[in-house]
Amino acid sequence: MAKKQTQSTTHEFQAETKKLLDIVINSLYTERDVFVRELISNAADALEKFRHQSLTHDQDKLFDAHVPLEITIELDEKKNLLTITDTGIGMSREELVADLGTIAHSGSGAFLAELAEAARNDVSLIGQFGVGFYSAFMAGSTVRVQSRSWDGGEGSEWVSDGTGSFSISESPGLHRGTKIIIELKKECEEYAKKWKIESIIKQYSSFVPFPIKLDGETINTVQALWARNKAEIDEKEYSEFYKFIANSVDEPLFRLHFSTDAPLAINALLFIPTENFEIMGFGRVPPGVNLYCQRILIDQHSETILPEWLRFLKGVVDSEDLPLNISRQALQDNALVAKIRRVLTKRFLKFLAEEAKADEENYLRFWKTFGIFLKEGVTSDFSYRKELGELLRFESSKSKEQTPIGLAEYVLRMSPGQKEIYYINGPSRKAIEAGPYTEMFRKKDIEIIYTMEPIDDFVLSHLAEFDGKKLVSADRADLSLDEQGNTTEAAADEKSTALAAQEAEELINWLKEALKEKVSDVSQSRRLVDAPAMIVNPDGYMTSSMERIMAAGRMEKGTMPEMGKKNLEINVSNKLICRLADLAKSDREFALEVAMQIYDNAMIQAGLVVDPLEMVERNYRILNKAVS
Ligand code: ADP
Ligand code: MG
Repeated sequence: MAKKQTQSTTHEFQAETKKLLDIVINSLYTERDVFVRELISNAADALEKFRHQSLTHDQDKLFDAHVPLEITIELDEKKNLLTITDTGIGMSREELVADLGTIAHSGSGAFLAELAEAARNDVSLIGQFGVGFYSAFMAGSTVRVQSRSWDGGEGSEWVSDGTGSFSISESPGLHRGTKIIIELKKECEEYAKKWKIESIIKQYSSFVPFPIKLDGETINTVQALWARNKAEIDEKEYSEFYKFIANSVDEPLFRLHFSTDAPLAINALLFIPTENFEIMGFGRVPPGVNLYCQRILIDQHSETILPEWLRFLKGVVDSEDLPLNISRQALQDNALVAKIRRVLTKRFLKFLAEEAKADEENYLRFWKTFGIFLKEGVTSDFSYRKELGELLRFESSKSKEQTPIGLAEYVLRMSPGQKEIYYINGPSRKAIEAGPYTEMFRKKDIEIIYTMEPIDDFVLSHLAEFDGKKLVSADRADLSLDEQGNTTEAAADEKSTALAAQEAEELINWLKEALKEKVSDVSQSRRLVDAPAMIVNPDGYMTSSMERIMAAGRMEKGTMPEMGKKNLEINVSNKLICRLADLAKSDREFALEVAMQIYDNAMIQAGLVVDPLEMVERNYRILNKAVS
């Protein structure tokens, strides 16, 4: 009789996973305990997923429907074994292969990068990178995963010692869910001791919403912290809950716990972490807030309950008003969800404004780490412009270095006649202040905001106005500083060296002709003080910075950047410009070179691209003439 074939297959781990395992297995840790937390957290996830399936499917479609939802831990000191069992959703053979070995987790690379940074040699962060399962090899010499999916398909076993490959075979007779059997390394035998595991669970996993049974005894009290009365919750419980929900070891920067009854019943507990993994270069983080209905998880890492730009928040939102068996798809077009999202977002932004008011210094700590998300909010979500505008911070000509100010503070300092808020982009404070755009502002004592991040000009142009005042980039062509009541008489500014009106007009006409391939207009500047010339934008919407970024994007896509022509403003009080007027009459050819160079210099000061080869050659020709 032919034996039933229990086909066993061997698979290589995905390349980055191998590297990760190598580190996990071979380094020495002080934080080994986290592997217990990671495996319990996976078990809890699997149980939540099963609970969700059971709400959206007929009972007869569920395998082992009667089995209670729980996590069981068994210890065997003699054999040095630790076994964690859950009755959750389980994994099919294919899922075991993919989820525990061959899927390239983007988190592996990010986690490796994080570990490589000497100062942050912190393996305990592993769970945040979506590779928590592999922490089992911190303590296990062999890890065995037996699993059977909720649909009742055949069960399978996954086995590995973590050194390069794993094997899969059939495993008949399993109940629904997953059993992880860890043969502990010699030096890790304490993980087979009850006191040890109990203390880890108390520390990290007290908020798991399913019973955890350790050698027969239930050791956690299943509770939903967010549903409890605020007055009865102490700081330690909040902090532990944060660590549990965020799978993190740090303390939250801010916490917002609030509930509403009318018009919607919402219970929300939201945390702002201390660190922003996205700005550390680890790619987009998944949303960190889970959606519950009557304490049952209906959408983990919910994409719908908060806008995308609030993905850095961690926490839970619970609303009794939602139908329990709603599918993830249906959540997206659910009007009630949209309403809750709006209420939550408004409440959260109000909370930030209150925090900023109470302690600006502390708010700036938040801003430096997470401000980028609020900026993203301005550019992607029209509905919260007003609230977000209050929360933005930028350095300005009147702020201290590294101490950005809010637009409200700017408005407070505006002179009564000033109607607009000005800003200018540049790579650094120093570069901006050395450039031509701030000259007149300095002279007239008008504050100007410095936008130093690439996204900033997009943010301010989306915002368009603040407190009824238009936001205007100082590289805009039609900018006229004298209109705003900040007394200026153009004539009084003219120095004795300035060109006479007739000469100026002649020079401008000549420049228009000389530079007609490059600029769309040349005009006499009413705002330059010392610099000979500046580039301004005839298009009132696009700033030079925005144009530079869009051009870079096009260059990446392979098409050469084509820029709109700019205007050139010249300063007729500047010596170089005065002499150029003479030169244009005596030596046209050389005057042309000088004009071109002035144009290129102004482009560079605007942060825009010039042809470097052409410029350097011309520059040498001019230098030659100067030394001879
Ligand atoms: P994460 O939990 O962040 O997704 P892990 O490395 O901890 O990353 O787990 C990888 C994947 O393996 C999980 O997303 C899940 O699909 C699967 N998995 C791990 N443990 C279990 C379990 N106990 N039951 C079902 N699936 C599991
Ligand atoms: Mg996990």
